[in-house]
Amino acid sequence: MAGVGLCHTDLAVAHGHLPFPFPSVVGHEGSGTVVAVGEGVTKVAPGDRVAASFNSCGACPECLAGSPVYCVRFMELNFSGVGGAGTTPLHDGAADVGGNFFGQSSFATHALAHEINVVKVPDGIPLELVGPLGCGIQTGAGAVLNSLNCPAGSSLLVTGGGSVGLSAVMAAARGLATIIVVEPVAARRRLALELGATHAVDPAAGDVAEQVRAIIPAGVKYAVDTTAAAPVITAVLASLAQQGRFGMVGVPADPTATLSVNLIEMQARGLSFTGIVEGDSNPDVFIPELIDMYKKGAFPFDRIITTMPFKEINEAVEAQARGEVIKVVLVHGSGIG
Ligand SMILES: [Zn+2]
Ligand SMILES: [Zn+2]
Repeated sequence: MAGVGLCHTDLAVAHGHLPFPFPSVVGHEGSGTVVAVGEGVTKVAPGDRVAASFNSCGACPECLAGSPVYCVRFMELNFSGVGGAGTTPLHDGAADVGGNFFGQSSFATHALAHEINVVKVPDGIPLELVGPLGCGIQTGAGAVLNSLNCPAGSSLLVTGGGSVGLSAVMAAARGLATIIVVEPVAARRRLALELGATHAVDPAAGDVAEQVRAIIPAGVKYAVDTTAAAPVITAVLASLAQQGRFGMVGVPADPTATLSVNLIEMQARGLSFTGIVEGDSNPDVFIPELIDMYKKGAFPFDRIITTMPFKEINEAVEAQARGEVIKVVLVHGSGIG
């Protein structure tokens, strides 16, 4: 492994919010160089630079239709802690250790990934930075470019200026007319404006929907919510224009969380609410597209990344929790590669 991003989902496992066997190795935004391949693997060869993304079966109707994020075996293949044979690839002496997290478990010097969830990385981009393209960054960018497919000239509201929200902003900056970010941390609002947001709203400055309608009285056509917090979602729905589309990418801390909406209002205003996993990304297609955009200077995702030595993983978790960094990538050795 050259680098591995630190993602909210790793911490959700550590905090017991997601079912995963302990002890375990998590980490699911890894990048590195192929050391060896198993029998029958043709996609990559030793020496290839790769990014790893989520795992999928490749054989169910969703996978065959090009939507591997909705693979019917997604939970089992990413969150069961075991590999395809039903056994964990990782052990501590004789004891089993949960592995195969997102088909990679990449908080490690070496990871065992699958042919289906590695993507070859071209030259011209630092290898250690590309892991988050396989999760947090493709989630935000894909919500705009794939899931909602926001047309040029349109309007977008993004709630939360973390790595997913700012990735949505960078993707939207390629043509949307109005991009409004709602974020309580001033430094993140400033960065959002630098990355292409047209407006940054402080939720502490007043009612969010009123602030949005002061900018765009008819409301926004599209919204990407990264918070999964019911009061924020309610404010976003109130900020939508007629026929507005709401994309939900945030993962609630409480797995039993529900939302109450006014059905007549949803219907009369023609609103739609879409759940989105991983930005509806097909990593084999979308990661090369994001790298291409980066190389053209149109998707500067490195600006939201801070690299830290892998051995400082606990400090990285604390820095991210304090809001001092947006996306940490933990690197081995000297890092640049
Ligand atoms: Zn599948
Ligand atoms: Zn993630």
